Amino acid sequence: MKFLGKPRSHTAAFLPLCWLLLKTLQSGHCHPYGNRYAGDKVIRLTPRTEEEVFAFKNIYRRLQVDLWQPSSISYVSEGTVTDVHIPQNASRTLLTFLQGARIQYTVLIEDLQKAVENENNLQTQRNRRSLSEYNYEVYHSLEDIQSWMYHLNQTQPSLVQVFSIGRSYEGRPLFILQLGRKSRAYKKAVWIDCGIHAREWIGPAFCQWFAREALLTYKTDPAMRKMLNHLYFYIMPVFNVDGYHFSWTHDRFWRKTRSRNSRFHCRGVDANRNWKVKWCESEPEVKAVADFLRQHRKHVRAYLSFHAYAQMLLYPYSYKHATIPNFGCVEIAAHKAVKALRSAHGIRYRHGPASQTLYISSGNSMDWAYKNGIPYAFAFELRDTGQFGFLLPEMLIKPTCTETMLAVKNITLHLLKKCP
Ligand SMILES: [Zn+2]
Repeated sequence: MKFLGKPRSHTAAFLPLCWLLLKTLQSGHCHPYGNRYAGDKVIRLTPRTEEEVFAFKNIYRRLQVDLWQPSSISYVSEGTVTDVHIPQNASRTLLTFLQGARIQYTVLIEDLQKAVENENNLQTQRNRRSLSEYNYEVYHSLEDIQSWMYHLNQTQPSLVQVFSIGRSYEGRPLFILQLGRKSRAYKKAVWIDCGIHAREWIGPAFCQWFAREALLTYKTDPAMRKMLNHLYFYIMPVFNVDGYHFSWTHDRFWRKTRSRNSRFHCRGVDANRNWKVKWCESEPEVKAVADFLRQHRKHVRAYLSFHAYAQMLLYPYSYKHATIPNFGCVEIAAHKAVKALRSAHGIRYRHGPASQTLYISSGNSMDWAYKNGIPYAFAFELRDTGQFGFLLPEMLIKPTCTETMLAVKNITLHLLKKCP
């Protein structure tokens, strides 16, 4: 793996081995992430009144706990489903406070360390790293994903190209896969990115699944052949490469990038709140993708961004309550996509404008793409609705990706027709 430049981290190499040892020997001495989540909990609460919101925000600011949902404390208001990861040492203070304030809560995850260890599927430890038998039903480290991209390009050069569109804050290349039969004729394109938020591991797993399905079924599935003949897919399996790497080596629940913010003395920026008109203070990852999309804006007809968790398919606007000009076409595409998704395993997704379906938030990639002329801009919030949260077990990668694939194919085929 020397072609990637960065030496493989010892911790990242150690983790799968650690799990394997743990499962085979049942020794109990070997815990990923240094056992740092032992005794941590994830709880869910829904403040019912303004007083409860105020009280919760107060204790949140005092304890600085990790919010899983919504993505920022400012979005917590009456009726907001709020999931909080509480470290063991803050658990008693917070739970006593909530009981005192009569704020009802339920425990979603009793012991987070156990949940982290259960995320990985025991049966599939074999083949975790072999490229010829690349296993799409496990989570892969950044190094594995990058070698896999290189391998696809080597083995299927007529359909796959790999290139870098820039470098991350820590200097890692930002790789893109281009899928589609090469043609000199004008082709429309679909952009797909996964892993803007580091801890949402199911996103990168889906991007890899999509590439595999596309290449596997190109010859046998007429719909896929049509898609790859008439379109290019630009796929960025890991957008926030530094954050994703960090979520493997240090903190499973890291969300942001890894840039240094001297003004606030903290690390990282939310790469989905950083899409602005002026780029002077932007993250290098965001700027690289925005530059690429602007250069290809005549071709790129759809922008799809993959997140977790909520089971939603969102479209603009996110930053204001207003109806987009091509609402009819976008809504029908979304409606059909969630219907197709549900046909696989009965999983229900909500869909609609992000401002109404989720909450008002500004500076995200979907709104930016739409404002920059990409008529179909969607954000997927994949499984689940909180049972496992960011720790969706590997055994659920296959059903999640299979159903999501149906939705993405549906949206893509919709592009190739003229919208009624
Ligand atoms: Zn996200």
